[in-house]
Amino acid sequence: MNRPMNPQERELDYPLGERLPAPAELVDAAPGVRWLRMPLPFALDHIHLWLLRDCFEGREGWTLVDCGIAAPETRALWRQIEAESLAGLPIVRILCTHMHPDHLGLAAELGERHQAPLWMTLGEYAMGRILSATLPGTGGEASAAHFRQHGLTDAATLEQMRARGDRHFSQLVPAVVTRYRRIHADETIAIGSGRWRVIIGHGHSPEHAALYEAEQRLLISGDMVLPRISTNVSVQPFEPDADPVNDYLASLRRFETCAADTLVLPSHGRPFRGLHTRLRQQHEHHEARLQETLEACRERPMSAMDLLPVLFRRPLDLHQSSFAIGEAIAHLHALLTRGQVRRSCDADGVFRFTAP
Ligand SMILES: [Zn+2]
Repeated sequence: MNRPMNPQERELDYPLGERLPAPAELVDAAPGVRWLRMPLPFALDHIHLWLLRDCFEGREGWTLVDCGIAAPETRALWRQIEAESLAGLPIVRILCTHMHPDHLGLAAELGERHQAPLWMTLGEYAMGRILSATLPGTGGEASAAHFRQHGLTDAATLEQMRARGDRHFSQLVPAVVTRYRRIHADETIAIGSGRWRVIIGHGHSPEHAALYEAEQRLLISGDMVLPRISTNVSVQPFEPDADPVNDYLASLRRFETCAADTLVLPSHGRPFRGLHTRLRQQHEHHEARLQETLEACRERPMSAMDLLPVLFRRPLDLHQSSFAIGEAIAHLHALLTRGQVRRSCDADGVFRFTAP
């Protein structure tokens, strides 16, 4: 796992037990909601997807929430699922919670095969298309400049990041459909017999959509609420002044309207109960990281790179490092917004943050 593990995971309940869906297996998570698991070739090695029995515009079938990355193994598992496990019915609609590759990757291919429209928020759809097309300013050069400005000066690492940044997203999301159906904050979407309310989240991605069904007390939380790892909140090269930590914590408040005994269906980690406990843990986690960041900035001016050993007390690979630097910048920016640190750009072109 590349993310900090939740030390208070025991405060949560896992009512479905230890069981995880085997490759290409569908497990009932709730009435009308089937759970499947796709592999990922990263430290975070899986994503959970949801198939909801539906009748959409007169067509019997399944609404699919999130898709998996575009990779041979995922494609092969999808072919197997389509042949064996969908009761002969098509996917009639695809809803992506957000544009990250593990969620959006295969949406275009599956949508074309099943004639299923893509439903997403505008922010996620637009950013997904921009990154999939590797438009100017989104490639590896922009990432390298961003990391350089935050204290990563090792030439070899920068070169690796340049190379990786040019192909990473578009390999995993080779295409995004050219037409979509926009979904909105607080819109209620009828799926089968359920009525799912859209809860928008910020900080992890531009306009993340989670889905809450009040009658069954089910929450498809996407990446906004995860039981075991903390949601990644990173400053991205294309929005260098962003403050995703405060954005994330503010949007977590919207989940407080969900019932206390809600069954949370997360993209990573097992379905769990204890939503309000997990929301509190996430607030506490970030406030503790902010406190550590502030204390480090009191001792000496800190770049995001200087902060890595403070926030992440273990070695990181390249994939993890880019997440980690983004997250370190995010915590520095949160303190900047709160007026607790000052930022200066030094003669070496590196941003450093100082607490008075
Ligand atoms: Zn994500």
